[in-house]
Amino acid sequence: MKNKPDLQTQIVQAEIGADPAFRSVVPPLYTTSTYLWPSVEEKGPYDYGRTNNPNRDGLARALAALEGGAAATITSSGMSAIDLCLNLIKADDLIIAPHDCYGGTHRLLTHRAEQGRIRVLFIDQSDPDALHEALDEKPAMVLIETPSNPLMRLVDVAKIAKLSKAFGAIVVADNTFLSPVRQQPLALGCDIVVHSTTKYLNGHSDVVGGAVIAKTGEQGEILEWWANCSGVTGSPFDSWQTLRGLRTLSARMDIQESNAQAIAKFLQKHKAVTKVYYPGLRSDPGHKLMKAQQSGPGAMLSFEVQDTATASKILNSIEIFQLAASLGGVESLICQPSTMTHRGMAEEARLKAGITDRLLRLSVGMEAEADLINALKNSFA
Ligand SMILES: *Cc1c(COP(=O)(O)O)cnc(C)c1O
Repeated sequence: MKNKPDLQTQIVQAEIGADPAFRSVVPPLYTTSTYLWPSVEEKGPYDYGRTNNPNRDGLARALAALEGGAAATITSSGMSAIDLCLNLIKADDLIIAPHDCYGGTHRLLTHRAEQGRIRVLFIDQSDPDALHEALDEKPAMVLIETPSNPLMRLVDVAKIAKLSKAFGAIVVADNTFLSPVRQQPLALGCDIVVHSTTKYLNGHSDVVGGAVIAKTGEQGEILEWWANCSGVTGSPFDSWQTLRGLRTLSARMDIQESNAQAIAKFLQKHKAVTKVYYPGLRSDPGHKLMKAQQSGPGAMLSFEVQDTATASKILNSIEIFQLAASLGGVESLICQPSTMTHRGMAEEARLKAGITDRLLRLSVGMEAEADLINALKNSFA
């Protein structure tokens, strides 16, 4: 193509018409674990399924292009993607992570630190003093996750990346909540992007997978080497299915985000709702930063109701919204973070973070807007 195609075109066209064998329009699925050698002296482009696979490579090329990276490694889950990144630092190196990062990430880093493999400091990255104090400890890696879960707090990616790199740290951003169609961490100065492809990238709640995208080919090669070495690479079928889901990412995000915006406005006016956390609302403290570093607020939101009884009533009676953890699928989900996604957190820490039993989180899907709003309206009644 003469001009660099739009992101949406890249997503739809990824690996289309690229089959070298039978010229299929969409990529075929290669489930083989091993490949023929042309001769004993000569190895073909593929030799063993843990090391490489055409479906995994196709998805990797698509994700690297979307995030603006040099290379991507496809992993078996979002957690194995984050664990893979730890191979970029040495034993006893320090990682700075957000105090309100994804629960699984918090658990992984905490227990890797307890094993004595790394050191970790969880801080509020929106607090400049806390950030400077932590950077003075000379971290080898800084992990950014924005928006946070479940309170949708934003941090300034470009500012944190610039400061961290001045201290020599590798900057990793978890871009799961927004995807490359809403936020581009590499363009904002980060070195590495990680994804739980389980969420928006696949988008249909039928695959668990992950990806690590590196800005430089050099770091990409190290990650790919370790993924093969430790065997955390994703399966051919999961990669094939994720690329299939990925094609509609732009359209899904547009519709889901527009539904989320309408729901946030509805909730904001409801008398039983005491607070709505959604950076798409003009009144949200993150609204200005959202405009600066994102191309839209995305489709996740949380809200607080007046009392626990109301929260229970909604959870037990709501239609359409399925009671389940996870996010990013075409179907709408509702959850109570305090008893579901954040149950593992100590109560004191949870309350300090503002996660009460009155807080509900929505992953807004692409059902008709009026039906979603009616479902919410009726659940309050
Ligand atoms: C879900 C999630 C993960 C973990 O991904 P899995 O695919 O469940 O292993 C990591 N980070 C964020 C922000 C997530 O939402």
